[in-house]
Amino acid sequence: MVIYTEDKAEALLSKYVPVAKSVLAKNTIAAIAASNKMKFPLVLKLISLKALHKTEAGGVRIVNNIEELRTQYTDIMKSAIKKGLKPEGCLVQEFARGEEVIIGIKKDPAFGHVLLFGMGGKYVEIIKDVSFRACPIELKDAQEMIDELKYKKILYGARGANPVNFRLLKRTLVTVSRLPLKFKDIEELDINPFIINDRTGKVVDARIVMKN
Ligand code: ADP
Ligand code: MG
Repeated sequence: MVIYTEDKAEALLSKYVPVAKSVLAKNTIAAIAASNKMKFPLVLKLISLKALHKTEAGGVRIVNNIEELRTQYTDIMKSAIKKGLKPEGCLVQEFARGEEVIIGIKKDPAFGHVLLFGMGGKYVEIIKDVSFRACPIELKDAQEMIDELKYKKILYGARGANPVNFRLLKRTLVTVSRLPLKFKDIEELDINPFIINDRTGKVVDARIVMKN
């Protein structure tokens, strides 16, 4: 099994679906250089094969200026090294606004590759609001997957918010569902979250497990 950490998973996905801009910075100077080409707020994320759940490892921080970037970068790396996590560096990533959804692929012994879609973010395991289809799917299946969710109202615009860009969301679901045709070795793919609003949608976290 080969595990792709967020940086590698997003590099692969960015050829197919919209992914938040990011740079893997191996030291503070590189992180600052990366931030010069982006707009604050930015998100700093620990990249380590030993910390696949970055938040739990204290490895996800929003920073509002260069000073915060410098101190938070140092803090993430120091504590990761202390915990023996062998950090590769931190991703400096653009901040995305919108609703968090999860888009995933699992390999099922009976159905083969299966697409999962649901309300995403940190409560995904608690809320468990998801729909499934065998891969690949078409646009009308994507629409059904959306409409099967308990909390679909959030996507259709709760509390006066605009509906999310469903065209983009459905296209993204279809595209992800076709990835196993190209990458037969996918054992598991997790985009959590894909952050979507009324205009844009971006992958801001991903992990892939390949057979080889
Ligand atoms: P992990 O799942 O490894 O803990 P994530 O990258 O998913 O780490 O980050 C955890 C949470 O932080 C996300 O669910 C989201 O709420 C927030 N987050 C992460 N990256 C961004 C981003 N680029 N823009 C906005 N929010 C983000
Ligand atoms: Mg995540």
